[in-house]
Formats: sequence, C-alpha cells, structure tokens
Amino acid sequence: MAPRADLFELGSLALDPGEARTVELDIELQPVTVGAQPYEPQPASVPARLDVSRTVAGWSLRLRFDPAVEGPCTRCLDRARAALELDLREYHQPGGGEELASPYIEQGALDLRAWARDAVVLELPTYILCRENCLGICSACGENLNDAGPDHDHPAEPDARWAKLSDVRFD
Ligand SMILES: [Zn+2]
Ligand SMILES: [Zn+2]
Repeated sequence: MAPRADLFELGSLALDPGEARTVELDIELQPVTVGAQPYEPQPASVPARLDVSRTVAGWSLRLRFDPAVEGPCTRCLDRARAALELDLREYHQPGGGEELASPYIEQGALDLRAWARDAVVLELPTYILCRENCLGICSACGENLNDAGPDHDHPAEPDARWAKLSDVRFD
C-alpha cells in the first residue's frame, strides 16, 4: 500500500533508542462538527512541529500547531472564528498492551490527520462565539441583537381586558 500523505513514517527517521528528532511539516485539517454546526479549518493547512523521541520500547511524540476554524456563532449564527494553540503528547509502546498503544500509530506510521482532528474536536469550546459577549438573536423577532442596539425591546402586548380600562378617564 502506498503511504498516504497524512501518514508519517516514524521509521523513516532511523532513530536509535534515546535519539530524538524534530520535524517541521504541514498538517491538513478536516472540517469538524460542534453542536451540530459545521466548522471549516481556516486555513486548511497549518505548519506543525513534531518532536519524535525513540524510546527503548517505542515512541514518545509531541505535536504543536495552532489551528483555527470558522463557522456560525453559537448564539447569533454570524460568522465566528475559534483559534487554538495545541501542544499534544502521544506515547506508543507496541506489544505493551492496549493502554500503551497509541490509536494513531499503526505499524510505525503516525496518522497525523486523525490525531490533529481528534485534538481539534476535543479542544474547541462548546460555544463558538463571534465576539466574547455576543448578545445573540432576539427571541421575539429574530433580529441580531449585536446590530440592533441597546434599546431593542418589545413592550409586552397589552392584555385586551385592560385595554378597555385604559380608555376610562378619571377626571
Ligand atoms: Zn454572535
Ligand atoms: Zn426583537
């Protein structure tokens, strides 16, 4: 099988136990879904720094990159952006049992795309907002309250029974 571009062959570094190498590479990011809303990575490809250490029994990895995604604001549906600074660690000890095996490494190939995608999904905030104090949309008329101004209000409908009384004048 031909190696995929998103797979990094750890063996290609030809490290002996105790040796380490830092690799600069680009990671292709994938669209993610947060709260049933789609978010696109922006930019789609980000530079990353991968530290690879060969241990006696396996690998110790550190991956750093700063992804950002864009999509609808959770409150008002305007365009929103969330930026992350990720510093991830992964350990892999083949034959050491399931808890010592990384889900992103198979036969010496590191699946950077899957690792990056899972980390982005995990680290994104539950609410992605267009601004820190987004006011959302008006529940009565649907207008974006960020644009509407502080005076936007809907006086409660006067109760029909009281409407008649308001015609009564007390002199
Ligand atoms: Zn908003
Ligand atoms: Zn309104």
